[in-house]
Amino acid sequence: SPEDDLRNKMREALELSAKLFHHVLLQTDYGQHARHYLEKRKITIEAIREFQIGFAPSSYDFLLSFLKGRQMNEEVMEKAGLIVKKETQSRHRYFDRFRGRIMFPLHDAQGRIVGFGGRLIDSGQPKYLNSPETVLFHKSNHLFNIHRARPFIRKDDQVILFEGYMDVISAWQAGIRTSIATQGTSLTSDHIKVIKRNTKNVYLCFDSDHAGRTASDRGIELLKNESCTVKVASVPVDMDPDDYIRRFGATSFREEILGGALSVTAYQLETLKKNYALEDSDDRMQYLNEAITIISELPVAIEQDHYIRKLSEEFRISLDAMKEELRKKKKQKH
Ligand code: ATP
Ligand code: MN
Ligand code: MN
Ligand code: MN
Repeated sequence: SPEDDLRNKMREALELSAKLFHHVLLQTDYGQHARHYLEKRKITIEAIREFQIGFAPSSYDFLLSFLKGRQMNEEVMEKAGLIVKKETQSRHRYFDRFRGRIMFPLHDAQGRIVGFGGRLIDSGQPKYLNSPETVLFHKSNHLFNIHRARPFIRKDDQVILFEGYMDVISAWQAGIRTSIATQGTSLTSDHIKVIKRNTKNVYLCFDSDHAGRTASDRGIELLKNESCTVKVASVPVDMDPDDYIRRFGATSFREEILGGALSVTAYQLETLKKNYALEDSDDRMQYLNEAITIISELPVAIEQDHYIRKLSEEFRISLDAMKEELRKKKKQKH
């Protein structure tokens, strides 16, 4: 059908572009600055090859001219999100979308390229530019690295969910094969559908900045509602997983961050704690009160018992008193 024809041509244009960008990065003078940048970020040549990382030179028609030379037409390139139409009437009607950016090909679950993410080397806005929505690329269900990670996710029956490509690539370099990333912070129910085809056990490991924590809280709710088992793996404040791995290494990431991942309830109790000065007895009582509310909302009685006991030990408050408060909360709700 004509739709299939168009899709095939779009795929061809995307594959050719990825090859060109990769070649430019590794084999040409245009790629020198980008090569240096990746080296500084400790991205290895093996990772550059595996992820087919590339570079799009800062030119208005580098890709456009190349693809034209390969008999590709502009309409296909535009539909694939590779070039953009000019608003004004001029001799040149189109220009390259990605200019002066390090290019990360984005694949669908079958391993076919559907788009790109492009990062500026130096500061500037926007830091990342992604492909627009196309018939092949939908940001809301795209998971970076899913095609590589899928067999490992199934084998280990768990997945690590990051925010960014760089986190996935760093983890890959560290030998971690089960990681995937959303395009930034927002996890959608479409993402979760894709994840659940492979596993229900999710390690959520977002950036430890404000945006990341907010997104984490939203993600937890969504994943819980979809009956996934979530563990929250947190890196220290203001770091992201890539920063952490580069600074402290892979072993530490596995042992401290993944190994120290918390159940959702434990994570919520830890997060709540940060709002209170626990050495102050009023604050301590308020914290306990809030904590018991969280515990009272757990669906399983055994879990409630587990956390109530932990709190009672941690704050040296009699288990009977804690259980009495828990009963009151539950009564209030009904
Ligand atoms: P880096 O380490 O290169 O600075 P990062 O992976 O830490 O990048 P974040 O700023 O944490 O990037 O963003 C995570 C992800 O969010 C990126 O991989 C990208 O997909 C997406 N993203 C970030 N900034 C933008 C933006 N301005 N526009 C679109 N997507 C973005
Ligand atoms: Mn971030
Ligand atoms: Mn980040
Ligand atoms: Mn980062």
